[in-house]
Amino acid sequence: MVARRGETCRPAKAFRPFPDAPARPTVNQVKSPWLDQAPPVRQLRFDVDARPFLVLFELTRACALACRHCRAEAHPGRDPDELSTAEIRAVLDDLASIGAPRPRVVLTGGDPLERPDLQTLVAHGANAGLSMAISPAGTPRATASTLGALRHAGATAVSFSLDAATAEAHDDFRRVQGSFEWTVHGCRSATEVGLRLQVNTTVTAATVLELPALSRLVTDLHAAMWSVFFVVPTGRADATQALSAESTEDTLAFLHDVAQWVRLKTTEAPTFRRLAVHKRQGITTRAPGPLYVELHRRLADAWPVSDRPSGARTGPAASTDPRRRAPLAVADGRGVVFVSHTGDVQPSGFLRLVVGNVREKPLTQLYAGAPLLRALRDPSALRGRCGRCELREICGGSRAQAYARHGDPLGEDPTCDYDPSVSFSPTSPARPFGFEPPGAAPVEG
Ligand code: SF4
Repeated sequence: MVARRGETCRPAKAFRPFPDAPARPTVNQVKSPWLDQAPPVRQLRFDVDARPFLVLFELTRACALACRHCRAEAHPGRDPDELSTAEIRAVLDDLASIGAPRPRVVLTGGDPLERPDLQTLVAHGANAGLSMAISPAGTPRATASTLGALRHAGATAVSFSLDAATAEAHDDFRRVQGSFEWTVHGCRSATEVGLRLQVNTTVTAATVLELPALSRLVTDLHAAMWSVFFVVPTGRADATQALSAESTEDTLAFLHDVAQWVRLKTTEAPTFRRLAVHKRQGITTRAPGPLYVELHRRLADAWPVSDRPSGARTGPAASTDPRRRAPLAVADGRGVVFVSHTGDVQPSGFLRLVVGNVREKPLTQLYAGAPLLRALRDPSALRGRCGRCELREICGGSRAQAYARHGDPLGEDPTCDYDPSVSFSPTSPARPFGFEPPGAAPVEG
């Protein structure tokens, strides 16, 4: 349930794409009677109008890397106008004051390791009851001793970016030789010191074919989560780096297949949730394209089936495998909020519209009351195909992609090729998830 302006916020009501199934508006799938029918999309259990689920906190824009796609346009030096230690502590205290369930906080950058007070800030947040994670750059600063100290201070998780499975391709993307080795070393050190590891990968037109080999590398590194970012043309990224809607669909379909072996999620591609619902319903909206075929060909080369984790289900059973981690229905401004290094508050780092500044107003008040954030949480405010889409409550499109391409944060997502005006029928009770050659998947319209 989304509260309109002037209404009292009420607990969020979970969207149920299968009304005949047992009601189960919970994130926890482990002890569910749904064990053989895990929902295709998870909903938050709390009122997303009142509190964020995830706060991305950019501590600095200083960074030793110079990545081609960097949304922060990071540079070597720190900005003298960065939030001070005391100001950041105040924001963490404000977030903690919400009470349980408190938001998760990711300290990011630039490179947060460029801030000498990072350990102090982690400890402050953890002591206040917040779940603290860090997202350092893959540089020589990310040593085992530094990561161990952050773990000791109270950090629970760390994320590193890997955009290719080879040093040559990754270093070319990050534009610093040695970055791949430092990143892999950081990943290994993180798990050794007891941090939960997430690997982030930015998908661009130039790097998309790295995904098959990366899926194996992510598994070999013992990552608990693989987060696949679909590049948004903002910061140093431009539209030529982004995938077309057709290529995005092929890539998401491939990732949905790979999710049998790798726990993964997508960022700035919420139509992955639409795909998950349609897969469960046995609906195919589009035949697999050449990119999907090529990705699977490379997967077979890079990661033979015999080397993949055993026990993963294939075929129709994979659609309801409870071990498959269903995507979580959160989005920019709807569960997610971003604070810049100077205190500006945005729906996300990729949607560069400022709704206020934490130096002037508490973050919790800005999140709950800023008109833009309220509009982003109201599916009925969406326009274009997203506004007409029957799945807008669980998908809603990437607001950052819509703004970057069309200048309208409530417009349709240009990276989604689903047309809600066309009706599709299930092609089978539960469609297989394995590789299907082009033309094999019937498209109904
Ligand atoms: S049309 Fe919009 S809301 Fe519907 S699936 Fe595509 S991106 Fe999502």
